[in-house]
Amino acid sequence: MSFNVPKSDKKRVVIVGGGFGGLQVANRLKHSDFQVVLIDRNNYHQFPPLIYQVASAGLEPSSISFPFRKIYQRRKNFFFRMATVRSIFPEQRILQTSIGKISYNYLIFAAGTTTNFFGNKDVEEEAIPMKNVSEAMGLRNALLENFERALTCASEQERQELLNVVIVGGGATGVEVAGALAEMKNYILPKDYPDMDSSLMQIYLIEAGNRLLAAMNPKNSSHAEQYLREMGVNVMLNKMVTGYENHRVQLKDGSSIATRTFIWVSGVAAQPVGNLGTEFLGRGGRIKVDEYNRVTGLDGVFAIGDQCLMTADEDYPNGHPQLAQVAIQQGRLLAKNLQRLEKNKELKAFHYRNLGAMATVGRNRAIAEFSKIRMHGFVAWLMWLFVHLRSILGVRNKIIVLFNWIWNYVSYSQSLRMIVYARKAKEVQEREKRLSSQHWGKDLLSEGAD
Ligand SMILES: Cc1cc2nc3c(=O)[nH]c(=O)nc-3n(C[C@H](O)[C@H](O)[C@H](O)COP(=O)(O)OP(=O)(O)OC[C@H]3O[C@@H](n4cnc5c(N)ncnc54)[C@H](O)[C@@H]3O)c2cc1C
Repeated sequence: MSFNVPKSDKKRVVIVGGGFGGLQVANRLKHSDFQVVLIDRNNYHQFPPLIYQVASAGLEPSSISFPFRKIYQRRKNFFFRMATVRSIFPEQRILQTSIGKISYNYLIFAAGTTTNFFGNKDVEEEAIPMKNVSEAMGLRNALLENFERALTCASEQERQELLNVVIVGGGATGVEVAGALAEMKNYILPKDYPDMDSSLMQIYLIEAGNRLLAAMNPKNSSHAEQYLREMGVNVMLNKMVTGYENHRVQLKDGSSIATRTFIWVSGVAAQPVGNLGTEFLGRGGRIKVDEYNRVTGLDGVFAIGDQCLMTADEDYPNGHPQLAQVAIQQGRLLAKNLQRLEKNKELKAFHYRNLGAMATVGRNRAIAEFSKIRMHGFVAWLMWLFVHLRSILGVRNKIIVLFNWIWNYVSYSQSLRMIVYARKAKEVQEREKRLSSQHWGKDLLSEGAD
């Protein structure tokens, strides 16, 4: 397999990852003199802040995803390739991927993060992560299947295991998914399963620290906790999960909770780049960069967004928070800096402009912080709706999401509760098997790169 990207007299910028950051770079290089190659393991851009609504059957994956090929229709000097990154050979300026090699003049890592299980193999094998739309669909199917099985199972113990949901991680994602599931319990279960006692469904939100939303103001953490408790969520603070065995989540204090829906949203680590040595990596496996997002020690290589760690911004000596705005702002500046480089102009250093943080807790309530302004309740919720709707890519998606929200708000009922599993065609399965068994090592460097 090969990239089949034509060689041209233009310099080539290869971007790995079409998330918030990667997309900004690609968009902002539209009128530049570069050839741009965007690589992503999916053929679509996704909008993570609403993934929890896909998991709780409030939105379809297609409403928060957008195909790259549609975004870049009619774009000149631009190539998208669906591939996964394997390794980098910086001396030759070559990137190795699942579909072959590509040479670059400038390479940008913008591949975001993956779920961090902190080395706990039990948890990794058993827990359901929720980092992308595909995992969110896995969670939605598991939840709905467990409800169906709870109606027909033989023992009370199994029924309780099927109806208990344990969410580990009290950050924004944990809080939002707990709120959405509490609404499911309160409004949907009684209607959909009139012959099942919906009060049996118990939702546990477990956090190792002493408050939820640790990145926000403590007063807002208390509001979030109070909202969730009012909705019936069992918030458990200062509790550390140590494992999962026989359908029970084990806690460090020796106690355990029975569940077959064990959701892990407790931490992230940067997406690894096969052979990138530890000297290039910092906390959480993030690639170390300077104030211009240049990877320290690799010529022509940059990293942005969640995947990078910049400690040069004086307001953020431990690195920036892993938020969409950081990736977007870094992507925008890097596109400008690449063009400045070509003109031998001085590069501009990155300073994060904090636009605030938000989290929603079910219908009508949210928490928001903008610099010194703090808000909670209905007004914060309206702002949350507005900000998120504005940020979703594509007019069609905005309309569908808005329609779904209005429908769900008025009817108290998400209408997307089908259990659907995707089945891959044999041809696709076999190709994936072939590609994953191939060895992409240094020996392949003897072959040419596109
Ligand atoms: C559930 C959830 C909710 C969130 N909610 C919020 C929120 O409300 N507000 C907020 O500011 N932030 C939120 N975040 C964080 C925010 O999504 C990230 O900070 C942001 O997406 C980072 O942008 P990025 O460009 O660095 O990476 P991403 O947007 O994650 O994009 C990475 C891209 O790289 C691709 N990729 C990954 N690995 C490879 C590989 N090996 N090869 C090729 N391609 C690869 C992926 O498919 C993806 O398209 C949330 C995150 C999650 C998971």
